[in-house]
Amino acid sequence: MTLRNTVLVAGSANLDFVVRVPHIPAPGETVLGSNFLTFPGGKGANQAVACARAGGVPTRMLLALGADDFAAPLEQSLRQAGVDARVVRIADAATGVAFICLAADAENAITVAPGANARLQADDLPDLSDTSHLLMQLESPLEAVTGWALVARNAGVRTVLNAAPARSLPAELLAAIDVLVVNEGELAVISGESGPIATAVERLGKANVVVTLGAHGSCAHIDGEWLVQSAFAVDAVDTTGAGDTFCGALVAALAQGHGFAVALRRASAAASLACTRMGAQAGVPQAVEVEELLA
Ligand code: ATP
Repeated sequence: MTLRNTVLVAGSANLDFVVRVPHIPAPGETVLGSNFLTFPGGKGANQAVACARAGGVPTRMLLALGADDFAAPLEQSLRQAGVDARVVRIADAATGVAFICLAADAENAITVAPGANARLQADDLPDLSDTSHLLMQLESPLEAVTGWALVARNAGVRTVLNAAPARSLPAELLAAIDVLVVNEGELAVISGESGPIATAVERLGKANVVVTLGAHGSCAHIDGEWLVQSAFAVDAVDTTGAGDTFCGALVAALAQGHGFAVALRRASAAASLACTRMGAQAGVPQAVEVEELLA
């Protein structure tokens, strides 16, 4: 019998083009920036790197890349982190890119051109016989994400959806998700309830919902009980990828057999550390750094 111990992340990979700006430009405004940098990013790839760096579980990723010069650095970043990358090559598409304005207060504004990411399909999902958890986001086509979730659910794999960027979810997809991870804005869009978090979570009617609250930490409604986890106090320089680091570390901990309270604490520590560094994948801390913060 094959041991089910692998986390599969299915989702996006983008090359991030980052410019530091004094403030996020308003519509029609031009802002003079500085320090142009490129970083491997994309919610799926960021979460895969975070899961792999958390340690303790083999991490695999399903992604799509174009046939251009942006593909190689993305694949290399995954491999360097120890992610087993299963790449679908799309010859007539560009690799995904994201244009990120990073303001002096560490806030960001992001525009994504999905390119090859938009061409992933439901039947691209690899064999799941050694997979314990499937982690997905919404930077892939909704039909593909829904197909992956249904197949995984039927195969006895625990399904986790980070519903970002937010859009309304088909009932079929929501029903196939075991653990939903959202920030406050995403929760409002998905639940259709912009009032208190507890009301919005109740409206979703899901057993396991985790809500991230930026510098205020996170909370989770697990089988009817609330858990609250504060953020670790850090000097934030770049919050890009904080949510992704949180998701990857959370699923790594769950896949190691930890309960939600421990998983939230580990995810919170990893995400807070990620805020102290530039770049999405580049900012993901190593397991030893997280252990030090938790000690
Ligand atoms: P993003 O889309 O920018 O990656 P997000 O909106 O998905 O982020 P957040 O809720 O902003 O996710 O952050 C996720 C987690 O990161 C929080 O629950 C918290 O643990 C940590 N975090 C975020 N911002 C800070 C901060 N300024 N200081 C410490 N920890 C933070």
